[in-house]
Amino acid sequence: MSSGGDNVQIAVRMRPFNERELALESPACVTMPTEHMVVVTDPTDGEKQHSFSFNYAYNSFVDAHDEAYASQEKVFDDLGKAYLEAAWAGYNTSVFAYGQTGAGKSYSMSGYGEELGIVPRGLRELFARIDANQVDDLSFRVEVSYLEIYMEKIRDLFNPKQAVASLKVRESPKLGIFVEGLSRRAVTSYEDVEVLMELGNTMRTVAQTNMNATSSRSHSVLTIYLTQTRVDQATMTASDLTSKINLIDLAGSERQNKTGATGKRLKEGSAINQSLTALGNVIEALADNCMPAEQGKRRRKRIVPYRDSALTRILQESLGGNAKTIMVAAISPAADNYKETLSTLRYANRAS
Ligand code: ADP
Repeated sequence: MSSGGDNVQIAVRMRPFNERELALESPACVTMPTEHMVVVTDPTDGEKQHSFSFNYAYNSFVDAHDEAYASQEKVFDDLGKAYLEAAWAGYNTSVFAYGQTGAGKSYSMSGYGEELGIVPRGLRELFARIDANQVDDLSFRVEVSYLEIYMEKIRDLFNPKQAVASLKVRESPKLGIFVEGLSRRAVTSYEDVEVLMELGNTMRTVAQTNMNATSSRSHSVLTIYLTQTRVDQATMTASDLTSKINLIDLAGSERQNKTGATGKRLKEGSAINQSLTALGNVIEALADNCMPAEQGKRRRKRIVPYRDSALTRILQESLGGNAKTIMVAAISPAADNYKETLSTLRYANRAS
């Protein structure tokens, strides 16, 4: 796999107006003039525009029949295939969606109804590939873990007994960085994963905010561990190729003043932001380190601040190096969300 900027892919995806925005008759403030460009106009000053460029600018705001419309299939063709190929080749991958609650993170990651997102499409394809590659000297093992990070504490979503205590992140020469005591379940089909995810989701901490009654205030990481064991027929020795696919569901990035948070909710908000800020800093440092040096100069590599949050620590081996990182920044088209949209684009821009 190529090294450098290719390993971090940033996409911005704009959803259609929702009912609230339609009722408000909020005008649109975002356009996507090319497949890479996003332009936001300040609703209070039409002269003030901010332009950004990303690997992909996905427009799901235009009519579904429009040529520019970004369907679930298109997004998967670009992003999903890339993470599958990387995992198949033995590289770790991280896929996550960033944005304010209601901007379309779940739609892009999981999807709704028939409109499947990049997670189910990718995992279905992974198992189809495994089935298509059943040969004598090759065998596969797939395991899954599912954890939640809430207020910087790590909880195993497959283990209801582990309700309060926080799991610890450890490092060992043999295992690398791992979450101590995190359970893994063996799976042989996408349906197995789906059942386990449902089980885990019932355990997730969901708290109400003024923004959205079901908005999740925690981050979750579903990790798929793929082991391919190949037996060399001449020597009868087996060798393993392992990779991890991390599918990350981030809490909404909205600032707390808009959600009217006080007390515990406010504390919660700063813990959420700690992880999101740390993730942004890590990706920014990684993207920076991939930039070519100025001519004649040696480039000093930036230190990547993995240790600043539980999330980045857990993902350390799946962000940077040869790992592939895919981020979908989800935005609303409405002027009413101008500030949040601009803040999401700025966050995504630091990473590209
Ligand atoms: P989040 O996970 O960021 O809170 P959701 O993914 O739940 O947001 O999206 C909020 C609503 O917007 C959902 O009803 C979803 O179906 C719709 N939506 C989001 N993105 C799109 C899209 N690209 N195309 C059509 N509808 C979308």
